Amino acid sequence: MTPTAEATVTDPNITDLIDLNALFTPDELALRDRVRAYVQTSIKPRIAEWYEAAEFPREVIKGFADLGILGMHLSGYGCPGGSSVDYGIAMMELEAGDSGLRTFVSVQGSLAMSAIHKHGSEEQKNQYLPGMAKGEIIGCFGLTEPTAGSDPGSMQTTAVREGDTWVINGAKRWIGLASIADLAIIWAMTAEGVRGFIVPTDTPGFTATPIQQKLSMRASIQCDIDLVDVKVSESQRLPNAKGLSGPFKCLNEARYGIVWGAMGAARDSLEAVLAYSAERLQFGQPLAAYQLTQKKLADMAVEINKGVLLALHLGRMKDKNGGLEPHQISTGKLNNVREAIEICREARAMLGGNGITLDYSPLRHANNLESVRTYEGTDEVHTLVLGQRLTGIPAFRLG
Ligand SMILES: Cc1cc2nc3c(=O)[nH]c(=O)nc-3n(C[C@H](O)[C@H](O)[C@H](O)COP(=O)(O)OP(=O)(O)OC[C@H]3O[C@@H](n4cnc5c(N)ncnc54)[C@H](O)[C@@H]3O)c2cc1C
Repeated sequence: MTPTAEATVTDPNITDLIDLNALFTPDELALRDRVRAYVQTSIKPRIAEWYEAAEFPREVIKGFADLGILGMHLSGYGCPGGSSVDYGIAMMELEAGDSGLRTFVSVQGSLAMSAIHKHGSEEQKNQYLPGMAKGEIIGCFGLTEPTAGSDPGSMQTTAVREGDTWVINGAKRWIGLASIADLAIIWAMTAEGVRGFIVPTDTPGFTATPIQQKLSMRASIQCDIDLVDVKVSESQRLPNAKGLSGPFKCLNEARYGIVWGAMGAARDSLEAVLAYSAERLQFGQPLAAYQLTQKKLADMAVEINKGVLLALHLGRMKDKNGGLEPHQISTGKLNNVREAIEICREARAMLGGNGITLDYSPLRHANNLESVRTYEGTDEVHTLVLGQRLTGIPAFRLG
């Protein structure tokens, strides 16, 4: 017997083995339920279609704005003003739908809006943030280059000052949303070191070209950007960003969201395989009745419960202390993405041949998580952050 693709677990708390719900406030649970309901009704029914067509569904932007999750943990300037835990919960529920759609919210809120909120002038914040929180202005964040990924300090893009004007030349790669964005935060090397600029995407010399034939994150957009004599005024420079700490402070926000998001993808995969294995009969019994199956389900659920606990601990600490140390974020990102990808792959295998179709979510999630383990610091980069923390010896570069 082949279960229908719609087979679902009926108890939404079935994977909560340790009463995680008791650790959230009623408002946090209500937020979770609101975002979960949106994902259930507006994303899940169509995600396979968008993923196969490699289409980012722009209609979700308004839905996300209405949910109040764009720039969710930023305050003032028309931003929702939620907590870090609120933001994390929303990311977990969104990524249970699809990592590509969670990535939209990360790029818009944690990267582009956060860059302006952290480093911008009052005028810049008032000009851009209210429209960005409403989803009326889309932003992107250009740090990575064709030859500078894990080592952004080796960037080749330059900004040269000529009077009150900056002239930017270079190239960026893998820039989320760039082809639909109204503004790009562009990080460039100047005579004084790395600086950030708000570049309207209709500025002459700015071109964004979507990267095609992706096997991961198909329902989202990443682009190559070319910058040829792009001119912006000094008033478009982010005045409070000096050096690489400028972009890194924004990346830390996005990395924190991933700690939660990865657990959403893992939970959705576990729920899919729980439903499937309860109905799928082989050798006369449901797959769920076999001990080998139960061990896999139990291992997945244990890791998800541990991963959510870790995310929640980091979130509460972030809210209490106003931030997290880099090694704390690395611990969460490295662990939760590593565990999530294993869970999604195992869930795919447990679906047998049916698991390689878009009728079921685990392989889509696993493929998306290939990107998630690469962006916002690869597994290796986060391992090196932790190695440095433990030994005191930076091992990022030789010699
Ligand atoms: C879907 C997607 C969305 C993205 N969105 C954005 C975005 O919006 N904005 C943006 O600026 N960037 C974005 N990126 C880029 C992303 O941040 C980079 O891909 C990432 O930093 C890795 O850089 P790279 O791809 O150049 O790989 P490389 O840095 O070339 O790394 C290749 C491999 O070498 C390993 N490696 C590197 N250095 C070391 C070392 N010292 N020791 C051991 N191993 C090492 C890496 O871990 C990796 O396994 C996105 C990427 C993807 C895939």
